Amino acid sequence: MGDCIFCKIIKGEIPSKKVYEDEEILAFHDINPVTPIHILVISKKHIASLADIQKEDEVLVGKIYGVINKISEDLEFKKDGYRVIVNCGENGGQEVMHLHFHILAGKKLGTKINS
Ligand code: AMP
Ligand code: ZN
Repeated sequence: MGDCIFCKIIKGEIPSKKVYEDEEILAFHDINPVTPIHILVISKKHIASLADIQKEDEVLVGKIYGVINKISEDLEFKKDGYRVIVNCGENGGQEVMHLHFHILAGKKLGTKINS
């Protein structure tokens, strides 16, 4: 995990615009937003990808969805709706190998998800 950029964000070695933090989970604005609101939600535990989730991580992943729900309330896009995306592996387009949940909000998104 030494050169994982998201682990460095967790440690404060790389700055981020935080929107939520607790003992297990951190959320911050994506540096290159594709929607008016684009937030990444990560676990503080380094899990490389969705494909690396272990049985003991399943409660944590559930909590991440709870945090996403809370963020949507706090930033007031819950009512309008939003999209959550997890890219996994090479075909999924994952570039940062630390499991992260993209929240895309603030505009009406297209219906095609396979672009
Ligand atoms: P993915 O393609 O699913 O691995 O997405 C990685 C995301 O991380 C991209 O949307 C990047 O814009 C974002 N990203 C990379 N470096 C940073 C950073 N230092 N702070 C915030 N977001 C970042
Ligand atoms: Zn990491």
